[in-house]
Amino acid sequence: MDYEELREQMVITQLIPRGIKDSRVLEAMKRVPRHLFVDVSMQNSAYDDMAMPIGDGQTISQPYMVAIMTELLELSGKEKVLEIGTGSGYQAAVLAELSKDVYTIERIASLAEKSSQKFSLLGYDNIHVKTADGTLGWTEEAPFDRIIITAASPKIPDPLMEQLALDGILVIPVGSRYSQQLLKIRKTKEGMLEEYHTPCVFVPLIGKHGWE
Ligand code: SAM
Repeated sequence: MDYEELREQMVITQLIPRGIKDSRVLEAMKRVPRHLFVDVSMQNSAYDDMAMPIGDGQTISQPYMVAIMTELLELSGKEKVLEIGTGSGYQAAVLAELSKDVYTIERIASLAEKSSQKFSLLGYDNIHVKTADGTLGWTEEAPFDRIIITAASPKIPDPLMEQLALDGILVIPVGSRYSQQLLKIRKTKEGMLEEYHTPCVFVPLIGKHGWE
């Protein structure tokens, strides 16, 4: 399988036609080996236009969803980013290509452990992983320039808003358990600026400030 060619095709057929424009995001999506973040038995479908199972009832998001969430974060390369929902580790790897440091939290220990091993193997030494309830954030490392939540939440968890730096951006799928919309929040001196983007369906964010 020519995975590099599959990545190129993924960008040309799935991302550009749907409006992903940030050239740094498109280049990162061409670089990160998504097939290494799924089970060996599914590697040949890793660049298809869909989310895929990663075990424990969880999923790796569709490439387009990873791209649009990353684009909404407006990364320049200098940011300290917090991700809630490490899952396979793929989104964290894309973020690590485009920012200074990525702090990622996963509530399921086996997934955190597996993604940690992948980051070491692939040389992502700017990704820091912990197993915990991510709705509480990562107090010791706050504030964060960017926060991305890759699981569906009924609302924005208060601790995450508190841990977002001034002029920071947070992206989260908010809505009901079965259908959400991407919400981008910019924290300014004058208050929170909200923008709603594409409809989406994520697995639930389970924790103190998410779903029970
Ligand atoms: N970003 C992931 C990737 O690139 O593969 C996909 C994330 S998957 C759609 C959502 C993940 O959020 C699951 O692995 C789930 O266990 C995790 N999750 C749900 N609630 C959480 C919480 N409170 N704290 C941390 N992780 C949580």
